[in-house]
Amino acid sequence: MPRQSVDVSALWYRGAATIEPKKSKSLLHPFVVRNYNGLTINPYQGCGHRCAYCYATYEWSPDFYDKIYAKSNAAEVLEGQLRKWKSDTINPVMVSSATDCYQPAELRYGLTRKCIEVLQNYNVPYYVFTKSSMIERDLELHRRYSHNCSIIWSITTCDERIRRIVEPGTPPATRIFATIKKFTDAGISCGVNVDPIIPLVTDTDEELDEIVNSCKDANLKHVFGSVMRLRADIWDRMKIVLKLLQVPDGEEQYKEIYGFRGPVESSYLSADRKYERRILDLLELKIKGQQMLHRFPARIATRIDRAHFGQTTLASYLA
Ligand code: SF4
Repeated sequence: MPRQSVDVSALWYRGAATIEPKKSKSLLHPFVVRNYNGLTINPYQGCGHRCAYCYATYEWSPDFYDKIYAKSNAAEVLEGQLRKWKSDTINPVMVSSATDCYQPAELRYGLTRKCIEVLQNYNVPYYVFTKSSMIERDLELHRRYSHNCSIIWSITTCDERIRRIVEPGTPPATRIFATIKKFTDAGISCGVNVDPIIPLVTDTDEELDEIVNSCKDANLKHVFGSVMRLRADIWDRMKIVLKLLQVPDGEEQYKEIYGFRGPVESSYLSADRKYERRILDLLELKIKGQQMLHRFPARIATRIDRAHFGQTTLASYLA
């Protein structure tokens, strides 16, 4: 299909996002995934990284990429919730699950940095999830807390042609790996999540090899991954991706891989088990072949430190 026939304007190529502040009543939220009880914070709503496969868009709205809300009171709200925390211990906090906490808005608002300072003051373990190299700004902040935090980068592709179409707001993988190397050199616990692996787009032997080899070169120990799940809004965007990348019979092949004929319903579809097993086994083989660990870096619940209540200074919030 010729590229000019694909209307991308209705989806993610809409220019720079606008950013608006908003007040939030609650920041720290519990979640349960496969018997794991976790906690998450999201200092922003929406994301300027514009990934076609984004799971955080929920009901698809182009506003998710185009209008970013900065939760301007995030640090105060987080501190208030930690102050009232009932237990003596606290599980690791995921920063963040439904947005990228180091997206361009962070340069203006610095909310992620302020929230990280709060977590550190209360001795809360955390994982940062990002696709960004902007996190380099906070390398020293994370380094001084490296006993109790891990940084996880999601990397989808090392192919620039694919990246520009699939996740146009993210930095090139070479740039991200340069950042990761600085973090591993600083002794910070780091991991790469090859996620999502996109059928017919990023699932080739060569692509997986390039990512895994780059992980090795960046001195990573923990690498893992998963295959993309499909949802109605993700399918709408993926159809455009398949056309732009000129994947032969892309839509028909996806219907085979994900086992659907008509419209995709709102719940997630997983890829065919055999396909998924083959790709994940291949990834695991490559990771272990490079003497890296095929798993998440472990963080455990820690005792919350009540000695610093109120000492995450107002000045820090206002800085
Ligand atoms: S970086 Fe994450 S939250 Fe942001 S658009 Fe991409 S997948 Fe969605």
